[in-house]
Amino acid sequence: MLARVVLGLFLLATVAHAQPSPDEGDVPPETMPSPPAPLAVRLPIRFRVARDAAGDLVRDKRWLVAQTERASTLFAPAGITFVIASVEPLDAADLETRDDRHGLARHLERGVINAFVVRAMRDVDDPTQWRRGVHWRLPWRRERHFVIVTEIAPPITLAHELGHFFGNPKHRWVPGNVMSYEAGDAPTFDPDQLHRIVAHARRYLRSGELVTHERLGELTARGELPRRWDGVEPP
Ligand SMILES: [Zn+2]
Repeated sequence: MLARVVLGLFLLATVAHAQPSPDEGDVPPETMPSPPAPLAVRLPIRFRVARDAAGDLVRDKRWLVAQTERASTLFAPAGITFVIASVEPLDAADLETRDDRHGLARHLERGVINAFVVRAMRDVDDPTQWRRGVHWRLPWRRERHFVIVTEIAPPITLAHELGHFFGNPKHRWVPGNVMSYEAGDAPTFDPDQLHRIVAHARRYLRSGELVTHERLGELTARGELPRRWDGVEPP
């Protein structure tokens, strides 16, 4: 009997540990807003993909298309479609430290979502763990941010990291949510998350951090893009 009580307490403690307290993004069902009006924009992603020892990209165009299409499907209720602007090779293959991630900043370009695909990325808080993706901000220039996915990323990872990129910093501990770790087969964003995505997309388009895919074509034709961001070199 005592053993069962002890085991029960142990299980409770384990569950309590595995279920973090609700974050500021959690919204009770009765106050969940209705979905936002969709934007109807196409946003460009510039991929930079690491090369393996043989010189081939660690993930091919088909893999990138699958990640991008999955993201477009999940962002459809926000009216955002992602388009691959280009795929460029990247020299760094493995990211071990924070500085390794910071080092990618020198590639950051205006107008596009900067996405990096590497072979492996170590968790900087728990070095025994390997990450599948991350949304990363530069500590010395907080408004500059980008996403990294690794070659072990399942098809939803880019969408999840873009969820962070578009104003949802926290995870949602609800199975079936894009921002949970149990996204399942058909994950969705909650309406409040979609509102943040739409608001951030508008803000990025207004500030010029992002341009639409159509505008990217015009600016590229005029020679105004591509252009790197200033001030992103590690200090
Ligand atoms: Zn996350």
